[in-house]
Amino acid sequence: MKAKSTGRCTACGGSGEYKGRGEVVNGVFKGFVGTCFHCIGKGYTTTEDDRRNTYYWTKGAGSKLHLV
Ligand SMILES: [Zn+2]
Repeated sequence: MKAKSTGRCTACGGSGEYKGRGEVVNGVFKGFVGTCFHCIGKGYTTTEDDRRNTYYWTKGAGSKLHLV
């Protein structure tokens, strides 16, 4: 069964890439790049992803982070 997309991933903007600490040098991002955890690299989220992310930010590890 194919998961239904619920829209473009808000965490990575649809690239599927997570960009961590780093800087943009001459227009090229230099730094940590990995698979976006929000959409697992798909670039869009599904209801399954939404459920997981909601849990993550409300009850999981994300809720313990102090994001500025
Ligand atoms: Zn993403």
